[in-house]
Amino acid sequence: TEELNRNSTARWRDLDVRHHLNPFSDYRTLKTRDGGSRIIVRGEGVHLYDSEGQQILDGMAGLWCVNLGYGREELARSAYDQMLELPYYNSFFKTATPPTVELAEKLAELAPGDLDYVFYGSSGSESNDSVVRMARFYWQKAGKPEKSNFISRTYAYHGSTMASASLGGMKPMQQGYGLPLEGFHHVTPPYWYDFGGDLSPEEFGLQAARAVEEKILELGPETVAAFIGEPIMGAGGVLMPPESYWPEVQRICRKYDVLLVADEVICGFGRTGHMFGSERFGIEPDMMTLAKGITSGYLPLSAVMVSAHIAGKLIEQGGEFAHGYTYSGHPAACAVALANISLLEQEDLVRRTHEETGPHLKARLQELLDHPLVGEVRSEGLIGAVELVKDKQARSRWDDKSTAGQICRDHCFASNIILRAVRDTMVFSPPLIIEMSQIDQLVDGLRASLDRTA
Ligand code: PLP
Repeated sequence: TEELNRNSTARWRDLDVRHHLNPFSDYRTLKTRDGGSRIIVRGEGVHLYDSEGQQILDGMAGLWCVNLGYGREELARSAYDQMLELPYYNSFFKTATPPTVELAEKLAELAPGDLDYVFYGSSGSESNDSVVRMARFYWQKAGKPEKSNFISRTYAYHGSTMASASLGGMKPMQQGYGLPLEGFHHVTPPYWYDFGGDLSPEEFGLQAARAVEEKILELGPETVAAFIGEPIMGAGGVLMPPESYWPEVQRICRKYDVLLVADEVICGFGRTGHMFGSERFGIEPDMMTLAKGITSGYLPLSAVMVSAHIAGKLIEQGGEFAHGYTYSGHPAACAVALANISLLEQEDLVRRTHEETGPHLKARLQELLDHPLVGEVRSEGLIGAVELVKDKQARSRWDDKSTAGQICRDHCFASNIILRAVRDTMVFSPPLIIEMSQIDQLVDGLRASLDRTA
């Protein structure tokens, strides 16, 4: 088998080099004769296996999504059964399918406040595009069509389509791509470690919220449709807002009649130790986007949760909402989501993340503060970050092109641990089924890689 593995590996890497354009990749370094990707062939629990039989501990749950872990037969079974019964039908033209509406009821039951209605898509990006369309449609129906601007934050990640990347605050995704589109505006994120200066975290949280108010006033409240934010910013570096931030942002949005949208694509379904990040921070958004953990990544699915007062206006006013996708409400994906949520509940994973694994991760990350490269650690539930710095006192980084994070990430990967680097921040988001001893392995593995990076 070893010979076979070597041959298959060589073949797959060669095919990857010759025919595959990977997302978010530098093709000059990846598409070389001795390059190509590591080929992942199997998963079980929190582990992946590559084509050479190496076991890898996945500290990122894929891309923050495989919350129930790999190889769950119940999820595969739910897709299989639904595909045999009815693999596809759409919800356009006065039809719907049972899993689609059963899931809508379940999501409405779980979601905070009066988020009672669901609009489906297949990815987080699509769901945020749908928010842009629906918010503008809503304001037309509410008699305020000039409310069309969106406010979001630097370092935000809301997806890769033209509208969702405009909502996002990642410069490299915008410059040279004709983005952001018109009508998308950005304010400073609640990133205390980098931007807080001499302020206490709570003072800084209020200041960052005030930046939202200032932007609303600058644009004119009568032109602003919505503010969107991730409860905890994930791909931007796991930026934990001070407690003062979200309640103040909510107060400001209500004051100026601006819709508050929570992007819960990462935070949703237990990641923070609460079912939704909005609950963790005590806010009741007008819309909420969900993806990733909704199916633990087993099939693509996303949802926009819409409040009863918004949906009520659309129902009352009528007129076609001219937006939707072939796969909106895909029955097999919805069946998997139902099975996934039911397992999340049966296995009590949200409480376990809150009371057991989350606190353990937090305690273990704290220990890293004695390392010369570690400036700050942050975590909430099973999402965490370790900030690498050149000088702890000055909180200084290397320079704009620093690759310390990437070097550390590569050391982790070479030792069969998957963590991600965002700039010079190492981020964690393991499957929620992770055991205490596996959290220890992740943190110990990171320390060893930090030693090699220093
Ligand atoms: N929103 C957030 C907060 C995300 O983290 C992501 C993906 O990482 C997205 C949206 C986009 O989701 P997708 O990649 O499924 O389009």
